[in-house]
Amino acid sequence: MKKYIGCDLGGTNLRVAIVDVDRGAVLHQMMIPALAREGHDAVMQRMADLVLETIRSASLTGEEIGGIGIGVPGVLDLEKGETLFLPNLPGTWPHVPLQATITKLTNLPTVLLNDVRSITHGEWRFGAGRGVDTLAVFAIGTGIGGGLVVNGQLHLGIGGTGGELGHTVIDFNGPRCGCGNYGCLEAYASGPAIAAVGMKAVAQGLTTRLGEMCQYDLNRITPELIAQAAQEGDEIAKEIFEKAGFYLGIAAGNICSAIGPRRIIITGGVSQAGELLLGPMRRTLRERVTVMPIDQVEIVRSQLENNAGVIGVACWAADRL
Ligand SMILES: [Zn+2]
Repeated sequence: MKKYIGCDLGGTNLRVAIVDVDRGAVLHQMMIPALAREGHDAVMQRMADLVLETIRSASLTGEEIGGIGIGVPGVLDLEKGETLFLPNLPGTWPHVPLQATITKLTNLPTVLLNDVRSITHGEWRFGAGRGVDTLAVFAIGTGIGGGLVVNGQLHLGIGGTGGELGHTVIDFNGPRCGCGNYGCLEAYASGPAIAAVGMKAVAQGLTTRLGEMCQYDLNRITPELIAQAAQEGDEIAKEIFEKAGFYLGIAAGNICSAIGPRRIIITGGVSQAGELLLGPMRRTLRERVTVMPIDQVEIVRSQLENNAGVIGVACWAADRL
């Protein structure tokens, strides 16, 4: 059985993993800084070089590799194999032929997939989504990414653009989102949105230990710090996660009504807060969703964590190539 390569094209790091797609296991991996400021041509060259070096350092040859899957943080044209808009990378990469370039530089067939759809595919095949045919993933970090599996298939939609759960609207009068719309979930429950509520609480002089914990340097307030305060009993910090979990529950409720998932998976840095977030999310779902059997929907955390994306996109490549 051939092995496949899963790549993660991040704004900060490039990661290449050799994956056993029968077991969903990372066999070998390497990571280097993306140096994204050098532009897309340089980044693609670095990624191709890293692929070849990873194959060499695992004592394999190109013939033993079935192909490459690349998880990409943004909007793609899957049919043309191009990036359309990568909001977190300098230059945003409009119409960059990523698929053809990596194929040419490595001599290996290559496919692309959005990074959170890659995570969704990985969790479904080998992680927290195993055994169910319909599920939703919320990846909560700097933004909120998403992905759907519907009736036993990773949902793609037009050019792979379906599944942007962070940009479902929970208040049409809400604040402007990074995407240009108003009141998206991402504007309420992403890492920066949660941190901003904590900063505001300290700036307003509310009774919270957060001020002391960040030594009154508001830039040090992170979702992790707020979670720590909440776990130590800080009422304001608990309330911040209660609210974020409520907003997530509202968005997840819409998804439940739309697709009837058996499982909802929460992943990404902010999901480390665990029950602080999942508790209010579950309560909101139970209170608000009436048209489908919400008590049968499991709300769980990721199992594959940081490996979900490279495993998922390598399996995706194995299915396609
Ligand atoms: Zn948005």
